[in-house]
Amino acid sequence: MSMLGKRIVFIGAPGVGKGTFAKLLCKRWNIPHICVGDMLRDDVNKSAAGSLNNSGADEIAIFMKRGMLIPDSTICKYVGMKLKTLGNDNTRSGYILDGFPRSKAQVKYLLDNDFVDVVVHITLDRWVSIDKILGRRRCVTCGNDFNVANVMTDGYNMPPILPTDEGYQCPQIVLGKLCEPNFSTRSDDNVESLTKRLESYDVETTVAVESFKEFGGVALHHFPVKKGIEEADDLAEVIMQWFNIRK
Ligand code: AMP
Repeated sequence: MSMLGKRIVFIGAPGVGKGTFAKLLCKRWNIPHICVGDMLRDDVNKSAAGSLNNSGADEIAIFMKRGMLIPDSTICKYVGMKLKTLGNDNTRSGYILDGFPRSKAQVKYLLDNDFVDVVVHITLDRWVSIDKILGRRRCVTCGNDFNVANVMTDGYNMPPILPTDEGYQCPQIVLGKLCEPNFSTRSDDNVESLTKRLESYDVETTVAVESFKEFGGVALHHFPVKKGIEEADDLAEVIMQWFNIRK
């Protein structure tokens, strides 16, 4: 079954692995992964150049640095602008949207603009999320994401995600050579910012889930992660079955 044109939304606390699942399934289904946090970080790094000119790069950067959610009016405009540029009138590319919505107003924005077919709420025990967030590493040379956390107790099977090639290289060619990993951590993956982001999650994202129920009109699935990345097939199955049933 082709997943082209399907609009899928992943919501979940920071660290539940929604980005990792989204990347994997987007590659499999050949649809774009719209990771709002990554797009914001990229655009803020590029600073006032380009797309953020009209949306207030400075305002966005301040909220992100403090680990606070960006105001709804700003983030809705920003995400809407990105989604509208995908595909064209005849060929909608579809996507997995990751990291949006995180409030009732954002849910309403998605529904009012017909930006979503199916929502998956991904959950994970909080202690595992924290271990995974603090274990995140990005190679600054090739841009690949890794994770040094090793969560193997309480039934979890989440080994570190590391460069696998011999000689500890990233599985990516940069300028004709295998990349030498040069790990960095995200500036907001520290305990202080993380605590605020998890607090925001508890308040805002729970509201988002409840809002989808309240507004209705869209399928909402709960997907509790028990093992880790090996559950990607189960997650894909849940989503594809829903589209199959609707055919
Ligand atoms: P994340 O990578 O999802 O943890 O997002 C990093 C930061 O980007 C958050 O702490 C917020 O400042 C901002 N952000 C990402 N997604 C949203 C959203 N849906 N609404 C408001 N702010 C967001």
